[in-house]
Amino acid sequence: MAVTGRKEEEGKKMNLLYKSTRNAEKTVTASQAILKGLAEDGGLFVPEFIPKLDVSMEELKSMTYQETAYAVMKQFLTDFTEEELKNCIRNAYDDKFDTEVIAPLAKVEDTYYLELFHGATIAFKDMALSILPHLLTTAARKNNVKNEIVILTATSGDTGKAALAGFADVPGTKIIVFYPKGGVSRVQELQMVTQKGDNTSVVAIHGNFDNAQSGVKAMFEDKELEKELAEAGYQFSSANSINIGRLVPQVVYYVYAYAKLLENGEIEENEKINVTVPTGNFGNILAAYYAKQMGVPINRLICASNENKVHFDFFRTGVYDRNREFILTSSPSMDILISSNLERLIYTIAGQDAEKNARLMAQLREKGSYEITEDMREKLEDFVGGYATEEQTKETIHDTYARTGYVMDTHTAVAAFVCGQYRRDSRDETKCLVASTASPYKFIHSVMSAIDEKYADADEFDLVDELSRISGTSVPRAIEEIRNADIRHTTECDSDAMKETVRKILGV
Ligand SMILES: *Cc1c(COP(=O)(O)O)cnc(C)c1O
Repeated sequence: MAVTGRKEEEGKKMNLLYKSTRNAEKTVTASQAILKGLAEDGGLFVPEFIPKLDVSMEELKSMTYQETAYAVMKQFLTDFTEEELKNCIRNAYDDKFDTEVIAPLAKVEDTYYLELFHGATIAFKDMALSILPHLLTTAARKNNVKNEIVILTATSGDTGKAALAGFADVPGTKIIVFYPKGGVSRVQELQMVTQKGDNTSVVAIHGNFDNAQSGVKAMFEDKELEKELAEAGYQFSSANSINIGRLVPQVVYYVYAYAKLLENGEIEENEKINVTVPTGNFGNILAAYYAKQMGVPINRLICASNENKVHFDFFRTGVYDRNREFILTSSPSMDILISSNLERLIYTIAGQDAEKNARLMAQLREKGSYEITEDMREKLEDFVGGYATEEQTKETIHDTYARTGYVMDTHTAVAAFVCGQYRRDSRDETKCLVASTASPYKFIHSVMSAIDEKYADADEFDLVDELSRISGTSVPRAIEEIRNADIRHTTECDSDAMKETVRKILGV
């Protein structure tokens, strides 16, 4: 009897497995999916189903961010033990964040801003990149990986710094970041070259972002280099936004935000809310979609783009088309034409049909576009697309500040504009949450010149104290630090010498 009982209990704790969006056969565990990053067939890992929350909103209302993170993440990462997962969470969401609540809500007029920029690099990528290193090293241990993990990243600015901050001094890891010399802003460059941590390396390449990215990609595919590294006890891994270990931690803050709105009496039990997300690679809004499927009462998911409006056109026409001009905007983290995480949504609305998805992705690769079927379009009713022009973004920052004193960054302003436009056009009065993805201090030049033209020619650092004064907010640690920090990284190399540079850094 006792034996049967135990067996039944083990059976109940089912392992959630992950599949590639391009292969119906193979499954891997959560920790293997995190270690691999991308599936071997080029597809993205997705859970076989989206798990439901197994705690009530009543319980979630009183939980801290860390407790909420555990309640959500344990449903996805079922092969992590309670102790492992709680350790990862404790190491990630600590005093690297400048507020105990980690992701505070600001109510401004009739909109709730979920501020996701209180971490080490004052942008929302910290939410996931502060926990990914711990998930990755735990996953390595669980799968008996003995090698030290070397993170290789090419960056156009934001991701590199957030990854450096996340991996700095994490035992069992090294991180090497390549950026285009002269191709990032002064603040972004200073943030990277002053990075602390004995396991961090930053290299400026003589070339553009594409050169940096191709160089990194070539190293990932280099079998000979892989062998050399293994002999020296190293293996490469990526901190890319398609890693499921970046997506799952992002589901947490939507669950947390809903529970806090409820606790603060802003909404009633089971009241639906809309969520607007400033979108680039479709990771953040996909996390909101997963939160909805877990049981959070979310009605519409409003996908906000800047002038690179591939998503807006996709939701309007059912055609995804990257054949267009790439536009540089004041919200650079949303300047993309290939939205990698969208593949996970395509797979879902194709009825989890890997073959169908793989066919569409092959079309995207071959001719730069694809069209989804009518059936698939019907499954997109949760989503609304919108976009803001540069002028509308600027006006939103200006007018919101003039009316309320609240200062938002350019990415958040794109979402705020789209949220307002949707509300006016649809007459949908559902309360709306806007994901606020960066601190205004991070994009200070665009923000301040939107507020007043007189700041247009000012030096970025001179504007810092002015922003603090007019907004009544204190200067974030991330900004104070780079004002005075020593330059620690001065390595430069030609774009065809990246491999040699990596060898030198690792001593192989
Ligand atoms: C990365 C980023 C985005 C876009 O997020 P996705 O998950 O790629 O859609 C938006 N705003 C800021 C500030 C970002 O850094």
